[in-house]
Amino acid sequence: MTAATEFEPVIGLEVHVQLATQSKAFCGARAEFGGPPNTHIDPYTLGLPGALPVLNHRAVEFALRMGLACGCDIALRSELSRKHYFYPDSPKGYQISQFDRPICENGHIEFVLGSERRQVRLLRIHIEEDAGKNLHLAGGRTSLLDFNRAGVPLIEVVSQPEIRSAEEAGEYLRAIRQLVRFLGISDGNMEAGSLRCDANVSIRPRGSTQLGQRTELKNINSFKYVQKAIEHEILRQIDIVQSGGRIVMETRGWDAARGTSRSQRQKEHAHDYRYLPDPDLPPLVVDKTWLASNAAALPKTPMQRRDHYLFRLGLTPYDASVLTAE
Ligand code: ADP
Ligand code: MG
Repeated sequence: MTAATEFEPVIGLEVHVQLATQSKAFCGARAEFGGPPNTHIDPYTLGLPGALPVLNHRAVEFALRMGLACGCDIALRSELSRKHYFYPDSPKGYQISQFDRPICENGHIEFVLGSERRQVRLLRIHIEEDAGKNLHLAGGRTSLLDFNRAGVPLIEVVSQPEIRSAEEAGEYLRAIRQLVRFLGISDGNMEAGSLRCDANVSIRPRGSTQLGQRTELKNINSFKYVQKAIEHEILRQIDIVQSGGRIVMETRGWDAARGTSRSQRQKEHAHDYRYLPDPDLPPLVVDKTWLASNAAALPKTPMQRRDHYLFRLGLTPYDASVLTAE
């Protein structure tokens, strides 16, 4: 057996989708991409004392649309929590996210891999806010901060660890991009950062049912690199294990220019973040009637359309994929 067939890769993706709302997740500042630095800001974005959050109704609606389209269980009551960490691009000192009570759980993403129809189950889809941006000037002595992106609403789509190849990860991600575009909740543009992906990768002896130690790859900022970065990581891990080493749980940054990754930090754990329900935000309650009207207004998903073209109209798989691409 060759090295590549002796081991089975196991991949789980965490995909961040920027929601195309007009204003930010918890305040009225504009959520629009770009603009001169620090023009889409307000006291809440900057974490000024006394500024209080108000949840964006539209952001919740968009998260629900995605959850419904993925067949998730929707929580009629969920929680918005503070995830604490220090980083200059997060002026509040915490990010608002969802912890043990996310708005959507379970569900799945459907896509086509080669000629095979595949389903990857989801662990959850939760709502959170984006961070600002650090701009590091050439010369390495000065960093600037732009808070235009801070507080823009995101959903994070977290898969089960059941993707089995880099190629499958690419198709899974393409399916998410296509779905959010069909649902009208995001432009899904990876180059502009409105779709971002962290890849958790591990390997295990083929046939084993236990999960191996994983690493988490960050900075994969283009479609082209999703596959490359994951392939590289699988081979790196196989190399380590074959030479008698152990995989350490860590966060690695993908360096597209060099085609390699670098260890960034040892992985932190949930308890390091001191999650707590945000005391300024009441529980997020989804009204049943509102949920039902969102479900009724849901457009056909790309996969439903594809089935219609294939099985009702008798089109070829190629034609069906062209017609559902955009
Ligand atoms: P964290 O925020 O600590 O990364 P999450 O539970 O949010 O934890 O995300 C975990 C992600 O990692 C999920 O997509 C999951 O499928 C994936 N994952 C967990 N364990 C493994 C593993 N052993 N190998 C590959 N992926 C894994
Ligand atoms: Mg993670």
